[in-house]
Amino acid sequence: MTDRYAVIGNPIAHSRSPAIHARFAEATGQDVVYERLLAPVDGFAQVALRFRDEGGRGLNVTLPFKLDAFALAGLRSARAEAAGAVNLLAFDGDRIYGENTDGAGLVRDIEVRLALPLAGRSVLLLAAGGAARGAGRALLDAGASRVAIANRSAGRARELAAGVGDARVVGGGFDEIDAMLGQGGAVDLLVNATSTGLGGEALPVPAARFAEARLAYDMVYAARPTAFMAQAIAAGCPQISDGLGMLVEQAAESFLVWRGVRPDTEPVYRALRAELAAEAAR
Ligand code: NDP
Repeated sequence: MTDRYAVIGNPIAHSRSPAIHARFAEATGQDVVYERLLAPVDGFAQVALRFRDEGGRGLNVTLPFKLDAFALAGLRSARAEAAGAVNLLAFDGDRIYGENTDGAGLVRDIEVRLALPLAGRSVLLLAAGGAARGAGRALLDAGASRVAIANRSAGRARELAAGVGDARVVGGGFDEIDAMLGQGGAVDLLVNATSTGLGGEALPVPAARFAEARLAYDMVYAARPTAFMAQAIAAGCPQISDGLGMLVEQAAESFLVWRGVRPDTEPVYRALRAELAAEAAR
């Protein structure tokens, strides 16, 4: 019997997850269908539970519902607990399991596709929203020596750092970056987890931080460099990436949780990259 999965969000029409999972299913021979579900902003639980009651096996959860999904899950993984957010639900009878695959997707993209081992690296994480929450713990678990979180609202970054509860993590405003890194403290990797996106203005990060880093990573994906990527290029950062690989890797991690099989991500990543380029050329 074909098992049903979906991605739920608002808006959702733009989501590439159905195309990614269809490719994974074909490549692994798994009998699954994967749909899009639009839920009203105040109606996440009703739509998610209806999907479950109609036989749905699991959901990926995107903006703005990751906290609602956290609340709905009766059982949560350690990664979901650490992130305080859930981007995957698995249904098994009455049991609702919540997981967070965003951080693992980011780490795998950086370490495997971009070939930058994270052990001993100093990371400057820009933002303190949902995506940054998942990233912080995963970066530490991968061995980062320091994670400095800088956010427009400094208090949120401080709260996030305190919540992680690890001496390697500090939080503050953009104007506190130098202080957070300490005297002579250099950055190996910058990760942009703000929602400023394509049209966003440059972030108030000193050009020297981009210049000294090995990699500048934007979680947003696009055919053209984002404002953050343009900032990194202008400052001479040697390696720059958008978040398309993270998107594919978090999807593969979801597929693994649901189906027990890890799909090969490289062909899917390449196909999506070509699609993005073709869309931009139109
Ligand atoms: P949230 O709304 O939870 O957080 C947004 C963050 O961006 C906050 O820290 C906010 O700061 C900051 N921010 C917003 N506007 C500005 C601005 N003008 N200047 C500086 N900082 C700003 O969003 P998410 O964390 O869920 O998502 C963030 C991004 O990551 C999105 O673009 C999303 O698409 C992407 N993402 C990509 C994934 C992938 O697989 N590639 C997976 C998950 C997310 P403040 O606290 O001050 O408001």
